[in-house]
Amino acid sequence: MLKLKTVRKQNAKNKRVLVRVDFNVPLDKKGDSIVVRDDRRLRAALPTIRLLQASRAKIILISHLGRPNGTITPELSLKPIAQYLREKLDLPVTFSTNYDNPPIANIVLLENLRFYPGETANDTAFAKKLASLANMYVNEAFSNSHREHASMVGVGKYLPSFAGLALTEEVRMLANLISKPKRPFVVVLGGAKISDKVGALTNLARIADLVLIGGAIANNFLSAEGFEIYRSFVEEANKKDVGDYVQLANQLIQEHKTEKVLKDSYVPLPKLLYPIDVVAAPTLDTSNTEMIKIIDLSHDMEDKPEKTKLQYLDIGPKTRKLYSELLTGAGTIFWNGPMGVWENPLFAIGTKAIAQAITTSRATTVLGGGDTIAAAHHFHAEHKFSYISAAGGAALKFLGGEQLPGLKLLTIPS
Ligand code: ADP
Ligand code: MG
Repeated sequence: MLKLKTVRKQNAKNKRVLVRVDFNVPLDKKGDSIVVRDDRRLRAALPTIRLLQASRAKIILISHLGRPNGTITPELSLKPIAQYLREKLDLPVTFSTNYDNPPIANIVLLENLRFYPGETANDTAFAKKLASLANMYVNEAFSNSHREHASMVGVGKYLPSFAGLALTEEVRMLANLISKPKRPFVVVLGGAKISDKVGALTNLARIADLVLIGGAIANNFLSAEGFEIYRSFVEEANKKDVGDYVQLANQLIQEHKTEKVLKDSYVPLPKLLYPIDVVAAPTLDTSNTEMIKIIDLSHDMEDKPEKTKLQYLDIGPKTRKLYSELLTGAGTIFWNGPMGVWENPLFAIGTKAIAQAITTSRATTVLGGGDTIAAAHHFHAEHKFSYISAAGGAALKFLGGEQLPGLKLLTIPS
């Protein structure tokens, strides 16, 4: 089990503390001004900042925003974030572009780290420059901890390094999933980007008692099992080798095919489940509900000409029912990826039903994935999860069993 050196009041007393945060938040342009669309990541850093304030530390916040590729890009300035922190979150922040001699203030937010090429290159001189600003370092950017950048790994070589409070909590919640989940442990995986999820899917399938697959990812499994998927979306590994993720689905099916779970204590089901029926339509913006079909995959394998234009856009009613029943008895649930194209109400029923089943279960529930969080928010279910991980790729890598470079210097050797 991963043990972290978590920041405490005593170690920060009267120190100058460099805090790597992830203030890479979605921004909207409104006229001449830039506004924060979602401040979750800003609020996540507040407990650590408050703790450091309480220990009378001088705080220097550093973050990236977007991908300016090492050049000064005014639209990607962190200045509007500083303003938001002052006005909306009541944090007395001084903004500065001066990395050589930042102003003396209780809390300074420095300009976008990625305006400097040394950040992503993990350049030693840049890491040393960052380290020279403080006498202690805190990583409060779990979502960026899979990146070997100067502010994530380089700087920690020159300063005593600690884990932020939110990072510690995130690692604890995710580590629990892969090391000691309360069973039955059910993983629900959907969405469109199987490429991002391959590692997590493979690793979690070995750990979990049951894996329920939906969304466009399910198309890979249906295809691997010989079902026609017509014009349904499947992510292509690369243009030359389209079969890759279908092959991966096939490998997973083969690896787990002898493992069964007992539904209602006597119905044997495969551990890895994909939809038994789907909602299909010729186009995404279908307004004619007659054009929407429920295809029962367990019976209907005939290839009829009128079907060839169809795309599978949501899980069907039988799948919804089966998945919901299986989720009811879970001890732990991890959900990443919507069950269908929930942005369109016609294809949102599966995702809504799964959100409902998960949040009414007695399980410890962990939700991840940008679009899945947006869907949960849309269905007013967000506050009903035990934990929401907004860390995206870093969380998936962690769940895939990878060691994140940004956590290395924060870990207590076991
Ligand atoms: P997350 O951001 O939660 O990790 P992804 O980015 O992998 O999820 O995928 C989310 C997107 O997948 C949603 O915007 C949704 O419209 C799309 N999607 C879900 N099911 C399907 C499907 N059957 N066909 C096409 N797109 C789908
Ligand atoms: Mg997404």
